Amino acid sequence: MLDNTMYQWQMLELDKEFALVKQAMPDLKEGEALVKIAGCGVCHTDISFWHHGVQTKHTLPLTLGHEISGTVVAGPAEWLNKNVIIPAVLPCGECELCKRGRSNICRNQLMPGNDFDGGFASHVKVPAKYLCPVPDDVLKKYTLQQLSVIADAVSTPYQVVKKSEIEAGDIAIVIGVGGVGIYGAQIAKIFGAKVIALDVNDEKLAIAQKHGIDAVLNIKGLDIKAIKDKVKAIVKELKASPV
Ligand SMILES: [Zn+2]
Ligand SMILES: [Zn+2]
Repeated sequence: MLDNTMYQWQMLELDKEFALVKQAMPDLKEGEALVKIAGCGVCHTDISFWHHGVQTKHTLPLTLGHEISGTVVAGPAEWLNKNVIIPAVLPCGECELCKRGRSNICRNQLMPGNDFDGGFASHVKVPAKYLCPVPDDVLKKYTLQQLSVIADAVSTPYQVVKKSEIEAGDIAIVIGVGGVGIYGAQIAKIFGAKVIALDVNDEKLAIAQKHGIDAVLNIKGLDIKAIKDKVKAIVKELKASPV
């Protein structure tokens, strides 16, 4: 028999430990899916909700977490048993903005772990419409758990790089190569740019370099003019070498 219990680590109040809450699996309405969670990333937004007093749209208690991957275990037949990534922001798909391709600013958009219980849990109930299926081939290289960060940390800089209309041979300067910037740098690289990564942390710059970023610069302690001069020199060097 299917175990009917799910677990959530709920935020009860600011700065307090999450509470492990055991409850029955939620009922699903039409168009909703129940996803058994494989992985859920921790975003800076979660830290802001938990420690810095940024208000969640849904009142507490609330299960945070919006970088979720998992497997559909109940819901629409076409989604059953599919491995999926749940987008961090789920647009309505119906409004004028959505219809004009601006679903990123849809006023009715819903965010797991903000508008409703999110991914720091064993299961999550979500609208099925915008789930992203994970091709089996990808799972030969990465675990489903690892892919959870695509929901936000990868897709956010992807949108930025795409909107920037960067082209092969362009120079991209990425300021900060932490949990989001490192993907932005690599995506710009994939778009064909020559990428310079700036950061104050040598460890992060080393990771960027290891993953093919063309040039790195630690700007710790440098004033604006020194940074500009150094970046100009790097650009000159990079331009001199063919794409
Ligand atoms: Zn986030
Ligand atoms: Zn909409």
